[in-house]
Amino acid sequence: MPKIFIEKEYCKACKICIEFCPVNILYLSDSVNSKGYNIVEVKDESKCILCYNCERYCPEFAIRLEDK
Ligand code: SF4
Ligand code: SF4
Repeated sequence: MPKIFIEKEYCKACKICIEFCPVNILYLSDSVNSKGYNIVEVKDESKCILCYNCERYCPEFAIRLEDK
């Protein structure tokens, strides 16, 4: 079961992870971090196929994956 950790304070709402997620489970939420950026959240973690695109392409290193 994949576990997706998002470091909210690192996210700059660039949406790159959203664009590269093949199963479309990442979205920009209404929550805002201390820098004023809306943060990315996960809709349904169980649908993650652990392709690692989000972790690989996030320019802020805000996403980390674990396979439990
Ligand atoms: S690892 Fe792949 S499938 Fe899972 S959330 Fe990231 S981009 Fe989407
Ligand atoms: S790629 Fe990183 S910085 Fe950009 S929206 Fe996704 S988590 Fe945030």
